[in-house]
Amino acid sequence: MNTNQLSERLSIVASFVPKDTVLADIGSDHAYLPCYLMNKGKIRRAIAGEVVKGPFEAASRNVALNGFTDRIEVRLANGLQAIEETDHVETVTIAGMGGTLITSILEAGKDRLTHVQRIIVQPNLHAIAIREWAVENEFCIVDEEILLEDSKIYEVLVLERGTAEYSKADLLVGPVLRHKRSNVFQAKWERELQEWQRVIKALEKAEQTEEIKQKRANVQENIELVRKVLAHEEE
Ligand code: SAM
Repeated sequence: MNTNQLSERLSIVASFVPKDTVLADIGSDHAYLPCYLMNKGKIRRAIAGEVVKGPFEAASRNVALNGFTDRIEVRLANGLQAIEETDHVETVTIAGMGGTLITSILEAGKDRLTHVQRIIVQPNLHAIAIREWAVENEFCIVDEEILLEDSKIYEVLVLERGTAEYSKADLLVGPVLRHKRSNVFQAKWERELQEWQRVIKALEKAEQTEEIKQKRANVQENIELVRKVLAHEEE
């Protein structure tokens, strides 16, 4: 991967960035995404936010090497603290982290999202946390993609301001992904079902405390939801 050639995962994130937008890429190790988009003439300005010094320095180097120091500002900051109201950021990308971390970044910095119209996230795991955050914070899910790269499955979620109603199954598997129903989607949830069956068997062998019983019920509920989705049954 470099500033001219992104991984498929980041290419899909890039494809959802609106033309001529002002972008903040949070967790911008190497600043590959903003440099790529600037090289393609797709964005007006960008902020690359990084909380760790090493990746922050790598990002600063790449921005300088590409001659973009006047249009991409690299900032050492935690999450959305990288952006100020006066930046007029319209699009935020957060990729390559767990869904729980992405959610905590969004929650901690939601007062910084004043001008933001679109948030594109690529959680490595636990996308449900972001979907739940979206509902609670009046964002809706306008698009989603799922892909397989280097034997790993990734999801990309596109949020925009608005309200929508989602079922438990929508929040778990993705309201858009379940309708696109790609082979990767099918494979992910079949794999997940097998894993949950193993968990249920292990929990059945354990001492039946209230906590274990609750956990079993939760896993069982997820199994039922996903089975129905894969069988095209409405919940
Ligand atoms: N976004 C790039 C991508 O998708 O390829 C880099 C992903 S890398 C695995 C995650 C990056 O996020 C790391 O460089 C890490 O330091 C940074 N990061 C983690 N928590 C952060 C936070 N709260 N604020 C800013 N950056 C953060």
